[in-house]
Amino acid sequence: MQTSFTAEQLADPHIAEADGILRKCVHCGFCTATCPTYVTLGNELDSPRGRIYLIKDMLENGRDADAEVVTHIDRCLSCLACTTTCPSGVDYMHLVDHARVHIEQTYRRPLFDRMIRATLAKVLPYPARFRAALKLAKLGRPFVGMLRAIEPLKPVASMLALAPSSIPARSPSSQPSVHPAVGEKHGRVVLLNGCAQPVLEPGINEAAIRLLTRLGIEVVVAKDEACCGALVHHMGREQESLAAARNNVDVWNREIDGGGLDAIIITASGCGTTIKDYGHMLRLDPAYADKAARVSALAMDVTEYLDTLDLPAPAKAAGLTVAYHSACSMQHGQKITRQPKALLAKAGFRVTEPREGHLCCGSAGTYNIMQPEISARLRDRKVANLTATGADLVATGNIGCITQIADRAGMPIVHTVELLDWAWGGPKPAGLPEPTLEAAE
Ligand code: SF4
Ligand code: SF4
Repeated sequence: MQTSFTAEQLADPHIAEADGILRKCVHCGFCTATCPTYVTLGNELDSPRGRIYLIKDMLENGRDADAEVVTHIDRCLSCLACTTTCPSGVDYMHLVDHARVHIEQTYRRPLFDRMIRATLAKVLPYPARFRAALKLAKLGRPFVGMLRAIEPLKPVASMLALAPSSIPARSPSSQPSVHPAVGEKHGRVVLLNGCAQPVLEPGINEAAIRLLTRLGIEVVVAKDEACCGALVHHMGREQESLAAARNNVDVWNREIDGGGLDAIIITASGCGTTIKDYGHMLRLDPAYADKAARVSALAMDVTEYLDTLDLPAPAKAAGLTVAYHSACSMQHGQKITRQPKALLAKAGFRVTEPREGHLCCGSAGTYNIMQPEISARLRDRKVANLTATGADLVATGNIGCITQIADRAGMPIVHTVELLDWAWGGPKPAGLPEPTLEAAE
């Protein structure tokens, strides 16, 4: 694609990067076929190619964002299916990241929109605030139907509807701690605690700690670690996301320089995509560029790391059929496709995959709150495809997908690491059917 930025515009490193990305696009449109919003809405401006044109036009003309651009960029899930499909290697992720920052800096959203976004940014990344908000949400649940009927309050209705009816107790695993290796020590890792996941599903990191320590890995939950910043990053709140990244870069560099680290383990693939991008996010900050690159180089999804270990034979053959739902941040953001399925098969599960596995389930961070209609259509499509597999349960590697699908799937949905922990000697995750006799033998 030809671009016509001026030399003055190109002096801005963000514009120079956008220019390089735009020039790679050859307008072929292959990406439209795998874009969930184009597939759902059928509008070129809701396709990757359409959004690329909108962003190019806005940036080249040095224009503030307008309502049209904001509408179509807001509808983008940042699922990155387009980056998997694109034959030209267009780095849509960094282009849309930049567009979101530009929108945040130049566009004044309607009052309710601003209020809801500010609330999400100030509550979700903080576990104590999030826990308190979930308790309050119970009081608001009877009003979901009424709120849904008022257009600007639809996101509030979605927030209340998504809140779980019961909140698990605080887990000691989410406190700063060192979990020693069982037996001979083969490695030392940091485990990201995260923000929403330890409140909603603390059992996920508990399973990861049990499994890793049993395999001889010391697991550290580092003091002063906080939210990875993904949530505010996808809202274009650049300074908040960079502050979150700097905090964790400092915390984990202390661990690297202290006891040494083999990996920084992440059990939520949405967070993993962002942490692997810290090196890029902080590349222009001389005080942090090298330290952030060091962190990104060590960041691994828990299945990526487990795949590097010499696993013994599983303690029990689980004998259940698992539909593996690959989160977009796993398959498109981090390009991790083989390891989770290989580990589940090694653990004794029959692994199946749904049709249209490349399409997003509509969770996408806060998308299911901010774009409830499109999100619900994608969720229902995903649930239908998962149900058609006839599997006993669903496994996935991202808390957002679990929250999005759980109530509708009609079968248990668990994190992949909970199944792996079970297969290698841990407790059976709640709600799973009994393995068949044949497989349990
Ligand atoms: S990130 Fe996903 S929703 Fe956004 S343009 Fe790409 S494929 Fe479409
Ligand atoms: S597939 Fe890639 S090159 Fe083709 S239109 Fe989409 S982004 Fe551009």
